[in-house]
Amino acid sequence: MVILQVKPQKVVKLEDTFRHKGLRKKLVEEIRAKGIHDENVLRAMNAVPRHLFMDNSFMGFAYVDKAFPISAGQTISQPYTVAFQTEALQIKRFEKVLEVGTGSGYQAAVLCEMGVLLHTIERQRSLYEFARNLLPRLGYRPQFFYGDGYLGLPTYGPFDKIIVTAGAESVPPMLKEQLAVGGRMVIPVGDRAHQVMKIITRIGENDYSETEDGNFVFVPLLPGTADQK
Ligand code: SAH
Repeated sequence: MVILQVKPQKVVKLEDTFRHKGLRKKLVEEIRAKGIHDENVLRAMNAVPRHLFMDNSFMGFAYVDKAFPISAGQTISQPYTVAFQTEALQIKRFEKVLEVGTGSGYQAAVLCEMGVLLHTIERQRSLYEFARNLLPRLGYRPQFFYGDGYLGLPTYGPFDKIIVTAGAESVPPMLKEQLAVGGRMVIPVGDRAHQVMKIITRIGENDYSETEDGNFVFVPLLPGTADQK
């Protein structure tokens, strides 16, 4: 058992019990039955203790296939959605990956578990702090950034893979520019009510191909940081 010191007076236990592990295994089988076949994705989701990314009051819901509220009015993505986006990225070990929308840090942990070099960016300070505090205690060490993911991370690119975990009205041009040639971006695009998952591949310096797959509902990709409003 690891003890996590969050605030001077508040100690949170990072427990992953047999019960949690059992529930997680069932969830992974449910996701497999829904059509996710990449064994590396399923293995990573079996390894990451999702309950530790949610508020205590929602612990009992961590292993049902649903999105849930986290702080700052945001959500932790539904496990199937995390699996779908991760599979669509076609992740290989040691790839350089950018995630826009750290949120709870759960998707980031799944990517780290798959051995990528992850950069993750969040516009809500409280979420950025939460994930930056939690992930290293679970053994995951992505680089965390507080800022506007619309702009990507120009000085850290190009990225082999880019995953956007908030719904965009259109594909941010700077993210396309930061994709390596041969790289893939997975991004939900649409209006507030629903988005389609776009999978964009950079075929050449000025050449991109695009496919669409599946309907989803994400919280919106918003410009700027929450502090700037
Ligand atoms: N990947 C997260 C999902 C969080 S929901 C998880 O596994 O829990 C999407 C997140 O995107 C929210 O936390 C929201 O604050 C963030 N977001 C929205 N617009 C953003 C932007 N322009 N830059 C960075 N993060 C953004």
